[in-house]
Amino acid sequence: MSFGGIEAGGTKWVCAIGGAGVEPARVEIFPTTTPAETIGRAVEFFAAEPDLEALGVGLFGPVEVRRDSPRWGTILTTPKPGWEGTDVAGALARSLRVPIALDTDVNAAAVGEWRHGAARGVDTFVYVTVGTGIGGGVFVDGRPLHGLQHPEVGHMMVPHDRSRDPFEGSCPFHGDCLEGLASGTAMRARRGRPAEELGDDPEAWELEAEYLALGLANVVLVVSAERIVLGGGVGGAPGLIERVRTRLREILAGYVDAPALRDMDTYLVPPGLGSRSGVVGALTLAGDSC
Ligand code: ZN
Repeated sequence: MSFGGIEAGGTKWVCAIGGAGVEPARVEIFPTTTPAETIGRAVEFFAAEPDLEALGVGLFGPVEVRRDSPRWGTILTTPKPGWEGTDVAGALARSLRVPIALDTDVNAAAVGEWRHGAARGVDTFVYVTVGTGIGGGVFVDGRPLHGLQHPEVGHMMVPHDRSRDPFEGSCPFHGDCLEGLASGTAMRARRGRPAEELGDDPEAWELEAEYLALGLANVVLVVSAERIVLGGGVGGAPGLIERVRTRLREILAGYVDAPALRDMDTYLVPPGLGSRSGVVGALTLAGDSC
């Protein structure tokens, strides 16, 4: 049996064909452009696979993930031009005629890490990705959390010391939410250079670690997460996770006395699947739906 998986992100789509294993047999990556072009490329990729059983989709959000909603699989209020109101699941289902399993891109990544990666054996954890934006998949008791829609970890509010950091924030909805202050987009807007060119600027990374640690402290306190997986292009920058571990421990100040928190090196960890968490998670969603 072969399954399809799409890590359908706001920047790029990763399409894969695979079986039950972790390593997909065939992968294609292309940039997220217009809905018609992007969905069209995905359809073309999967249509070439003769015995596709099901398709798993980890879709960028906000997206309607309630299965009983008439708008299931539709992108909601996105600042991404052209995508608001796009029925992604419907377009894929009409063209490919296979069952579709869908969750947010970050919940799918969490599924991948839970089944095959750094969160194996941990039923309550959070996967946070820091790249162009910030997102988080929340797992509670072995299931992705949905609630109203799905958690919006990136848009939580964190203390913003304007004397230290006068930058207004880059979130089009909230200004200085966590994503507005600590995403790759925010780092670039604040310093005029992309994050990958800020290796020579320790202050930029200290500030980045500060905001992420404040956000992750909220995650620890609200979700009671037993582990946090920190991924994404910015999240994986050299030395960042170490800085965040140090500040997270200081901010929590010993208040939550749990064995898992005593060793930050095993509490806050990089993804076990590297940059493949999302697409492996999408394949897992497809496999689990059959
Ligand atoms: Zn925001």
